[in-house]
Amino acid sequence: MAKILGVIGGGQLGLMLTEAANQMPEYISQVVVLDPTPNCPASQAGAEQIIADFKEENAILELAEKSDIITYEIESGNSDVLKKLENKSIINPSPDTLKIIQDKLEQKKFLLKNKIPIAEFAEVNNLDELKKIIKDFGLPSLLKVRKDAYDGRGNYKISSIDEISKAYMSFSNKPLMLEKFVDFKMEISVIASRNTNGEIATYPVVENIHEENILRMTIAPARVPDIVRNRAESIAHKTMEVLKGAGVFGIEMFVTNNDEVLINEIAPRVHNSGHHTLQSSKTSQFEQHLRAILGLELGSTELIHHTVMYNVLGPSNFHGKYKPIMIDANDVFLKMYGKEISKPKRKLGHFNVVDTDDSKNTEKLIARVNEIKNSISFQN
Ligand code: AMP
Repeated sequence: MAKILGVIGGGQLGLMLTEAANQMPEYISQVVVLDPTPNCPASQAGAEQIIADFKEENAILELAEKSDIITYEIESGNSDVLKKLENKSIINPSPDTLKIIQDKLEQKKFLLKNKIPIAEFAEVNNLDELKKIIKDFGLPSLLKVRKDAYDGRGNYKISSIDEISKAYMSFSNKPLMLEKFVDFKMEISVIASRNTNGEIATYPVVENIHEENILRMTIAPARVPDIVRNRAESIAHKTMEVLKGAGVFGIEMFVTNNDEVLINEIAPRVHNSGHHTLQSSKTSQFEQHLRAILGLELGSTELIHHTVMYNVLGPSNFHGKYKPIMIDANDVFLKMYGKEISKPKRKLGHFNVVDTDDSKNTEKLIARVNEIKNSISFQN
């Protein structure tokens, strides 16, 4: 019988999950999302919305009451409440996995324990300890807020001894960790999935270009030698074997100058660097996530078309309503998220440029992205 799916978070990821669910009426009859913003993107695709903070216990309980199965599209949900619900509700990925991933230090400890390659790291409890660890790690090093930090917001790159105190003070009273700075030549990711029966599937490795710590462009497939591709795939596979729970995970990695591959971090959810799958693959990451948590056989992850994804972000000099953005070209697929207001760097949408002539020419796709992005304007 078709199930009611509860999702914590109703932003763009919730929107695209709802759209995927709408295509699977035999398995999902209704989507209910919990999100604090009225008329959130997912609700615009027909999801029922509970308007409340992601961490609010009563709202999570209400979501559980209404749903047969629960998942999330943000990692800042209340994992303690979800843990308490575990006996009554089906939650995927598991609250234990969510709890590990929510704390960057616990995540790194978990990866280390499982012999998955990462940068050297250490817990930081006070300023003296930080100074001592920096003596050992050297500079530059990255001071990171352990929880509720994303898009690089809780990171401070310490490049000189004079900066240590300032960096420490800037994160007053927050639990911290220090990481050795990785002099990477490329950032890549693997969208991996595991269904409730333990079946694992990974999408091809993609290349990610960030600007000011926010993902700007994803190139599928990544322009890397086979050795890097194989290392990334095997790291992703191993990670899925050790992480409990089912669903899609975004696994972000660094490629070093020696072609070593290290995990930067894991997102226990569908991921921005997987948006290309909407056009590049037979099964989108959103359908794959639903298949994984419903215990269906996983779909094909084969890359049918080389694709480059570009995020449409709110421009830095503009705040307010923006005029509708349209692109009329048969190799470009624009997806806007239904957010009424543009704010600097806000993710408003994305577009995929697809290799429709099958030339597999990545540089040509990137040139096309540059052409399109320069034609977009926001102001009314
Ligand atoms: P995070 O939010 O921790 O994923 O970090 C955001 C961005 O900071 C990453 O995409 C990297 O570009 C950079 N970064 C994070 N950790 C490191 C590291 N150990 N060394 C170098 N750059 C890093």
